[in-house]
Amino acid sequence: MRFFSLFIPLLILPIVIARSYDHETVTFHEIGHLLGLGHSSVPGAIMYPNITPGTSKGQHAKDVEGIKALYNF
Ligand SMILES: [Zn+2]
Repeated sequence: MRFFSLFIPLLILPIVIARSYDHETVTFHEIGHLLGLGHSSVPGAIMYPNITPGTSKGQHAKDVEGIKALYNF
């Protein structure tokens, strides 16, 4: 019984944490890296290095500005 009380929470916790992040936001962030963008210091930008669990981000002017600068749009 002690096994379950100790290990089940340890097994479930990472799943709960992983599911609390918005996958679309994380995916856009990683695609930004694939396209050549680095991290942004602007908290609203998708390329900002941290995200609060349970929040999502969309396209930000700073991200668009970065892509335009990289690819001469
Ligand atoms: Zn990053």
